[in-house]
Amino acid sequence: MMCPKCGGSMEKVTFKEVDVNRCSGCRGIWFDLLKHEELKKLKGSEVIDDGDSKIGRENNKIDRIQCPSCQTPMIRMVDREQPHIWYESCSVCHGVYFDAGEFRDFKSRTLIDIFRDLLAGPRE
Ligand SMILES: [Zn+2]
Ligand SMILES: [Zn+2]
Repeated sequence: MMCPKCGGSMEKVTFKEVDVNRCSGCRGIWFDLLKHEELKKLKGSEVIDDGDSKIGRENNKIDRIQCPSCQTPMIRMVDREQPHIWYESCSVCHGVYFDAGEFRDFKSRTLIDIFRDLLAGPRE
């Protein structure tokens, strides 16, 4: 599998029997159907997101990508609980792509996040 953002190769990473694919370049993470929700519930799972959130923020601007699994153009999504988290979702295979640092953010909602959500504008 190739990273839809930087073209790097995606490597399989396993946390407590849940597999994801992480880019060896930009460290973006591809989750198969509902794997991100499954991992969110597991204690310590944020270790899979070991990338630099600065790179993640840059890659967050690349938002018209194709699904690395089935090549369908992906839909741009906003997390319901934390609207400052933007990710991409595939309407066919239902995988999702998170930039580096986004899964850590998705997993825990901090005071800073609450503040960022108050300021977050709509995704254009
Ligand atoms: Zn990448
Ligand atoms: Zn797909």
